[in-house]
Amino acid sequence: MSFSSLPSSSSPLPSSSSSHPLAGYGWDEGWEAEFAPYAEQGLLPGRVARVDRGQCDVVTPAGVVRADTEFVVPRDPMKVVCTGDWVAVDPEGGDPRYVRTLLPRRTAFVRSTSSKRSEGQILAANVDHVVVAVSLAVELDLGRVERFLALAWESGAQPVVVLTKDDLVPEPVTLAHLVEDVETTAPGVPVLTVSALHGGGLDVLTALVGGGTTVLLGQSGAGKSTLANALVGEDVMDVRAARDVDGKGRHTTTTRNLLPLPSGGVLIDTPGLRGVGLFDAESGVGQVFAEIEELAERCRFQDCAHESEPGCAVRSAVDGGDLPVRRLESYRKLLRENRWIVAKTDARLRAEIRKDWKRKGAQGRAAMEAKRGRWA
Ligand code: GDP
Ligand code: ZN
Repeated sequence: MSFSSLPSSSSPLPSSSSSHPLAGYGWDEGWEAEFAPYAEQGLLPGRVARVDRGQCDVVTPAGVVRADTEFVVPRDPMKVVCTGDWVAVDPEGGDPRYVRTLLPRRTAFVRSTSSKRSEGQILAANVDHVVVAVSLAVELDLGRVERFLALAWESGAQPVVVLTKDDLVPEPVTLAHLVEDVETTAPGVPVLTVSALHGGGLDVLTALVGGGTTVLLGQSGAGKSTLANALVGEDVMDVRAARDVDGKGRHTTTTRNLLPLPSGGVLIDTPGLRGVGLFDAESGVGQVFAEIEELAERCRFQDCAHESEPGCAVRSAVDGGDLPVRRLESYRKLLRENRWIVAKTDARLRAEIRKDWKRKGAQGRAAMEAKRGRWA
């Protein structure tokens, strides 16, 4: 197999210090090693840019190819081929060719679905950095930041918080306070400020995510598209139009989901990534609230709910002013919400929650009665 057929001028493959034609798409020694047995079979490595109706567009050293996923259809919906996956495809053949194998994922980004049979839906694979965009143009909603961070941690990727539009906060002291608020909310997470308007902070962000695969999360209006354009270095819409590799028009949107960055690395931008919710993110929630979980280890009771138990290290941190009560409430809220989502699919957990209700039933009813009494 030769890489000389690699399209150049019309190609989305950027120049890179590494010689492999897929280096700009995140190919590294690890993937090389995973792929070795398939290389021996003469298969072509590639990264999935987009999946639709049982077929996908794969960026390979020979350009973008259309491939059928028939041979890699799993029972588990979480193992369905998705944007960001590394695969082995036929080196030549019909149109479509076939995906022969899916390389094991390093990370996976999932969302809950709103359907009754709540099953996770895989949104992106092999993501290294999750950039959570938070607009400084509106009041900071730390609870929302925490929610996105839980999702990010759960995927296995490293979260980064980017406070956007910092040109709208001219006073350095105010900006410093906002950054500090987010930093205490996000242990273990770098917090940057950027402005697409004057370009400030973009170099730091570029250096941070350089080389790897990045996704952008955040509320609508947070500045994700603007940030994507700034990172990619041109208008993403133009980039998308230019990605018509074979000139037939069919691939016009081919790699729009997988955008190589000029400084190295690639940005995954899929419609599904906008507006994601929690799914089975309990360990992710734990990482967002690492300081609370650490404190909890010092509670007298192992199953302490940090309510009115004696010897509760979490409550005493709140009382001593070391832990904002907002953090504790937010932690509870996200855990509760996550339990609900998981319970939709997990019968055993559902039963457990019911048992919990029964146990707390009398207590809860009494509390409700008391409340009603107060409101009446
Ligand atoms: P998205 O919905 O998250 O993709 O957000 P957009 O990228 O569309 O941005 C929302 C709005 O914020 C747009 O009107 C942008 O022009 C504006 N915006 C984005 N970045 C900046 C910035 O750095 N400074 C200022 N002042 N406005 C920005
Ligand atoms: Zn406790």
